[in-house]
Amino acid sequence: MIGWMDTLAIGAVGYAGVLGSTASLLYHNSPIIAPVITRCAGANSVALTFDDGPTPQFTIPVLKCLESVGAKATFFCIGENMAAHRSLVKDMLAAGHCIANHTWHHDHAGILGSKHYWLSELQRTSYLIEDISGACPRLFRAPMGFKIWNQAAAVKKMGMKYVGWRAWAWDTTGINAERIFRRITRRLSPGDIILLHDGLEYARRHETQTATVAALPHILEYIRQHGWYMNSLAML
Ligand SMILES: [Zn+2]
Repeated sequence: MIGWMDTLAIGAVGYAGVLGSTASLLYHNSPIIAPVITRCAGANSVALTFDDGPTPQFTIPVLKCLESVGAKATFFCIGENMAAHRSLVKDMLAAGHCIANHTWHHDHAGILGSKHYWLSELQRTSYLIEDISGACPRLFRAPMGFKIWNQAAAVKKMGMKYVGWRAWAWDTTGINAERIFRRITRRLSPGDIILLHDGLEYARRHETQTATVAALPHILEYIRQHGWYMNSLAML
């Protein structure tokens, strides 16, 4: 006979199971909803990726830092940020970096959005990138890495590929540069895609990425000391 304590326990396990399954579906590298690029091409290489920009006060020093070591990176840009800083996007392209799609609004509630919502978010962003660069982007990163079916349908319809990441630092949470450096480098190995943030989504518009900017030269030096190349994902 099952008592109320057992019912509670079974309910809790079931709830945890549903949460766990949902989390594994949404997990940024999970291939369950759609295939995801989780490794970069090229022997002895790591790929630097920056999300949520362009935001001039952080993107410009990031570009200068990358230029100082000849590194190419991939920027998953928010459409409304690009629309506000078109000339900066041109500079990023001229410097040889790859510009990719990170939605127009980066709305956290978008996870509940319809197929129409996701197609609109992706199309509007990709068309702006095409208008600036002359080429439609092929790479997409979901806001917060959360994949969901309606979004995946739009990604497929647009002929785009999801990109995940292997090394990250939670660098949008106000941690200092030293901690960002330690978190990025502690298990870093060739083939890894590194996630950092050069910009601010609308919900964080009063915050800062100065710690990321401060950590970047040390991360680049660590990569250089290991003899690894720093490539964009343009060839994927
Ligand atoms: Zn983002």
